[in-house]
Amino acid sequence: MIIQPKTRGFICTTAHPEGCAGQIQEQIDYVRAQKKLSGPANVLVIGASTGYGLASRIAAAFGAGANTIGVFFDKAAEGARTASAGWYNSAAFEQEAAKLGLKSFSIVGDAFSDAIKTKTIDLIKAEFGTVDLVVYSVASPRRTHPVTGEVFSSVIKPVGEAYTNKTMNFHTGEVSTVTIEPATDDEVRQTIAVMGGEDWGMWINQLQGAGVLADGATTVAYSYIGPKITHPIYRDGTIGQAKNHLEQTAIALNEQLSATGGRAFVSVNKALVTQSSSAIPVVPLYISALYRVMKEKELHENCIQQMYRLFADHLYNGGEAAADGSHLIRIDDWEMREDVQIEVMRRWNELETDNVPELADLKGYQDDFFHLFGFRTEGVDYEAEAEPAVAIPNMV
Ligand code: NAD
Repeated sequence: MIIQPKTRGFICTTAHPEGCAGQIQEQIDYVRAQKKLSGPANVLVIGASTGYGLASRIAAAFGAGANTIGVFFDKAAEGARTASAGWYNSAAFEQEAAKLGLKSFSIVGDAFSDAIKTKTIDLIKAEFGTVDLVVYSVASPRRTHPVTGEVFSSVIKPVGEAYTNKTMNFHTGEVSTVTIEPATDDEVRQTIAVMGGEDWGMWINQLQGAGVLADGATTVAYSYIGPKITHPIYRDGTIGQAKNHLEQTAIALNEQLSATGGRAFVSVNKALVTQSSSAIPVVPLYISALYRVMKEKELHENCIQQMYRLFADHLYNGGEAAADGSHLIRIDDWEMREDVQIEVMRRWNELETDNVPELADLKGYQDDFFHLFGFRTEGVDYEAEAEPAVAIPNMV
């Protein structure tokens, strides 16, 4: 069938298998052109099919020659419906990993459930023995608690008072003003339950309890801080409360793992276009301005550049993980550089619909959004017939 993008707000309901494979190849080529990584060896990535988790898996496999298990929640093609992008990404990843003779497995299912944790532990026992890196990169709107069965939903809202700022429809470039009412206490609680550190802690406890976490293992989860203008909707909002919990979890896990020489971190990453970030009001306009400034200063990075830098400069190759023994690794350092932020804020104050093309990188934003679903990939003929039913090799 001929597969074209079908967008609904910040969602694209179609994905292109060859386009996704092309995006994976670009990330692999980037990593293979860099200096080899000194580790890890056996890696578990939870939330491995898109965005930062996928880039972590690619950096580990193609930068260090690591064996990997990827856990993710994606859908296969069915009838006239294409598979989700993460499905095609993972199929392409598995194919390329196999060409290098790397051991690689994909587990599709709900990472929040005990069943998927048990399945993953059994696979590690059978195939790897232990894992020495666990990356936790799940971004989800919902979580069913494995013990109580409660279904939590996360919301992106300010806490305490309403927040008004500029936002942009990234399909049209139209800038408007948005007001978001504050979250209720229960919405805060539920967002922490979905995006906080409880599930990360459960994974580490169960892996350790089953004896499949190597001595000296590292675990890392991802967070964002960003500039003051987005703090009410991000850092000081519901999602920020969840990130605070995630960061507290890193401190506790670090304490727990240090007994066997292990370590736990939260890496604070740069703002990038992913399926998760495009859903946050205000943020797409900020990202567009940021992209423009960082590209002009030749500082721009995508997920793969960020994840390679995390591994090469902080976690492996003798790098210092976090400054001053902190639990936070700052690879948002270039985004937060003073000259970058001053220039982004100068533009922010002026931004309106008419000057978006001049002050921000709307095209860069849109291209990255379509890339997420395998569209606008160089060398792919989108008028040609494509086969939507693609199998993921080594799916367990
Ligand atoms: P993403 O939406 O691209 O990826 C989320 C991943 O989680 C996918 O692989 C998806 O399949 C998986 N997932 C979702 N629900 C799942 C479930 N129930 N079971 C198993 N897998 C599930 O998101 P992303 O932007 O890469 O975010 C990953 C992490 O990085 C998040 O913690 C996010 O807050 C953080 N982060 C993102 C940005 C950004 O700008 N995008 C910046 C800094 C930090």
